[in-house]
Amino acid sequence: MGGAIFRSDTRTIAVDPQWPFKGDGLVLTIEHEYGHALGLPHRQGNSIMKPGWDPPLASGPTEDDFRDLERLRNLSTGENWHAPVGSAARGSSPGPAGD
Ligand SMILES: [Zn+2]
Repeated sequence: MGGAIFRSDTRTIAVDPQWPFKGDGLVLTIEHEYGHALGLPHRQGNSIMKPGWDPPLASGPTEDDFRDLERLRNLSTGENWHAPVGSAARGSSPGPAGD
């Protein structure tokens, strides 16, 4: 997304104050860059992580984004990422959609 950049080497999110954000563009940009900070790469489709400003734009993090976050979390813990959100296999911690 234009107007902001996430630098993984410094964990810095920089927002260009001169970028002509419209509507909820700044919030969407922050959500996108925060997704990078959490480890999400760009992806196509219905996702806050889609690069650029070409429509259609997601109105916020989508189920696909939460699934990607779940996969990253399970890769880091070694758990089965196919387990449904909230299942006993994952323990009792809330998923990102429940926070
Ligand atoms: Zn990006």
